[in-house]
Amino acid sequence: MEYVTLNNGVKMPILGYGVYQVTPEECERCVLDAIQTGYRLIDTAQAYYNEEGVGAAISKCGVPREELFLTTKIWISNAGYEKAKASIDESLRKLKTDYIDLMLIHQPIGDYYGTYRAMEEAYAAGKLRAIGVSNFYPDRFVDLSNFVKVQPAVNQVETHPFQQQKLARKYMEKYGTQIESWGPFAEGRKEIFHNPTIQAVGEKYGKTVAQTILRFLIQSGVVVIPKSTHKERMAENFNVFDFALSEEDMHTMQALDESESAFFSHYDPETVEFLVSFGK
Ligand code: NAP
Repeated sequence: MEYVTLNNGVKMPILGYGVYQVTPEECERCVLDAIQTGYRLIDTAQAYYNEEGVGAAISKCGVPREELFLTTKIWISNAGYEKAKASIDESLRKLKTDYIDLMLIHQPIGDYYGTYRAMEEAYAAGKLRAIGVSNFYPDRFVDLSNFVKVQPAVNQVETHPFQQQKLARKYMEKYGTQIESWGPFAEGRKEIFHNPTIQAVGEKYGKTVAQTILRFLIQSGVVVIPKSTHKERMAENFNVFDFALSEEDMHTMQALDESESAFFSHYDPETVEFLVSFGK
């Protein structure tokens, strides 16, 4: 496993396993399979309703807690200092742990400054080893970065070959924040698993489209957390450290960037209204 070092010195695996859209019933089995495959970073969220499944798996897996890296995220309905503070303790309880390696604000919606203060406090108390944000576009990210005590260690944003986040990365680098990809496969949108350019690059190395994408992102310095409920795909997605893309192939992959979301934009007022509804 390769690691990145966050701005507070904490080491984070560059490849992890995400559990968005993994049902509460399946989550424990999936996380146990992932840990058995070799994953040590697990990415969940309050809004995924499966923190308990993650907690059950990590307490049963036999791997020492300090070898695991757990991420969860504070949902919009828990925005604001008091609610966020209580929700951190709730996540600790559900995850059956006395510390979380990385806590993120899931969305830049509602009183996220209050949420951030609660995270800073829990960070100082040793409940959180690192704190950061998710879905903070460059404008929100720059604003927050200038008014907090603890600079976000991570910003988890949609990142895949069609949305490479070049502008956002420039500002994350400026402020010392690690980029983490959500949706490395764009959840299969835009026929990504059948993209002829990615297929052609991967064939040169005897690798699948999924492996080529993950290798491209890792080689670009992006932390990735692909999701699959299938054990054989978990293994496929994990097997990306035995090859490296040439400079030419990196350029070919970089040229796929459309600098546009495959999902929705946080600059769109209708998207914001939809997200705001979770906080009411
Ligand atoms: P993703 O990882 O881009 O794609 C997952 C999809 O790809 C699933 O349908 C999965 O199907 C399929 N898949 C996985 N490996 C495959 C392979 N080797 N070959 C073919 N198909 C494959 O999407 P994601 O789950 O949205 O993103 C990853 C993680 O990022 C999430 O689990 C979550 O932890 C995080 N996330 C965060 C946010 C946020 O707002 N912060 C938003 C979205 C996601 P099967 O499961 O059927 O194998």
